[in-house]
Amino acid sequence: MLEIKNLHANINGKEILKGINLSVKAGEVHAIMGPNGSGKSTLSSVLVGNPAFDVTEGEVIFNGKNLLDLEPEDRSREGIFLSFQYPVEIPGVSMVNFMRAALNEHRKYKGLEPVSATDFLKLMREKRAIVELDNKLASRSVNEGFSGGEKKRNEIFQMAMLEPKLAILDETDSGLDIDALRIVANGVNQLRTPENAAIVITHYQRLLDYIKPDVVHVLYKGRIVKTAGPELALELEEKGYDWIKKEMGDE
Ligand code: ADP
Ligand code: MG
Ligand code: MG
Repeated sequence: MLEIKNLHANINGKEILKGINLSVKAGEVHAIMGPNGSGKSTLSSVLVGNPAFDVTEGEVIFNGKNLLDLEPEDRSREGIFLSFQYPVEIPGVSMVNFMRAALNEHRKYKGLEPVSATDFLKLMREKRAIVELDNKLASRSVNEGFSGGEKKRNEIFQMAMLEPKLAILDETDSGLDIDALRIVANGVNQLRTPENAAIVITHYQRLLDYIKPDVVHVLYKGRIVKTAGPELALELEEKGYDWIKKEMGDE
């Protein structure tokens, strides 16, 4: 589904991604871990087309298409979704209008008519339940005045509405209490199918107790320096990142 080859990216002339290689198949969940500042959020930004970053080398193929040639909105229409590490507040734009616009854009791309008001409300209700998001939040402006946990749940709600082929979750678990963590993880698990895939960026093994990854990668200084099974997350939990840094000759 996703093939990243030798991806290099800069911000303000500074190289952050230094040759990322990553291959994700349909049905798989990949976890990306790694110390702060390694480039995890940068990788997710580059995949969805954040214009702040310049890709200087490499390629990204998503379902046979050259992803880097597509505008951010077309990447979304093709089925890529990013749950932001820091979700933004959009005062004045109601969740309802925001969601309906996004959904209808996706439908239009597939040659479908706009969703009917009845079906839309039914869908909102159904998907809200997955993350136990209060109806009151759904009728407010996007993320405005939401608590940290509510914003993260709202990200997963949006994901549930759009049913992406590839979901990228950038530290969706950070700042969540244990109940919210379980709710978010359940939401993600309910949306898993053999046809879609997820990249879960996290610092904590505890999320991976709920969302079982097939593959775990360590991103360090702009490169994937280790790839293994779920046992790697347990090892990192136990030993931290120092041994990785040592292996890389940094300590
Ligand atoms: P991570 O998500 O792994 O913690 P990031 O991708 O957020 O790491 O950051 C990687 C590096 O890129 C850091 O050194 C960070 O300071 C730098 N960086 C990220 N965004 C910007 C930006 N907008 N301007 C300048 N440097 C940035
Ligand atoms: Mg970070
Ligand atoms: Mg980050």
